[in-house]
Amino acid sequence: MYRTYENDDLVVFWNYDKCFHAKKCISLSPKTFRPGLKPWINLNNAESKEIWQAISLCPSGALSCLYKHNIGVTLDRENCRSVAVDNGKEIGECVYQITDGDWNIYHTGVSLEYQGKGIAKRLVYKLLEEAERNNVKIIATCSYARKVLEDD
Ligand code: SF4
Repeated sequence: MYRTYENDDLVVFWNYDKCFHAKKCISLSPKTFRPGLKPWINLNNAESKEIWQAISLCPSGALSCLYKHNIGVTLDRENCRSVAVDNGKEIGECVYQITDGDWNIYHTGVSLEYQGKGIAKRLVYKLLEEAERNNVKIIATCSYARKVLEDD
């Protein structure tokens, strides 16, 4: 199960399947990581530095974190994609086609000047979360999306 959590500053990625519940994150930032509550991660209760440090010490790799750089990532279901936008300008997308009920991600792209900020990962996660909520299986012929599915 893939989830993202955001505040004004950060985007946090969490992969439930990797988490072995060592609770390191909870001990380092208890107001952020709150088992039993929904959402269990709340990024508005602690400083970014504390959150970042807790995430960097997650022993399983279930948690990772990026700065947002004021870039929004939203779903565009009508056009089968997620989209990244900076100040109204579209700067990236992740696109799928529906094949036998599955969503096949076949393209992920981010404008050259925005690369290296983790935007492609945010785009893929946006589709993974949405697919899970709709009980749809994701496959990827896009090599980048496949790497996220295999490594994350
Ligand atoms: S530190 Fe990592 S492995 Fe431990 S509970 Fe938190 S997310 Fe899970």
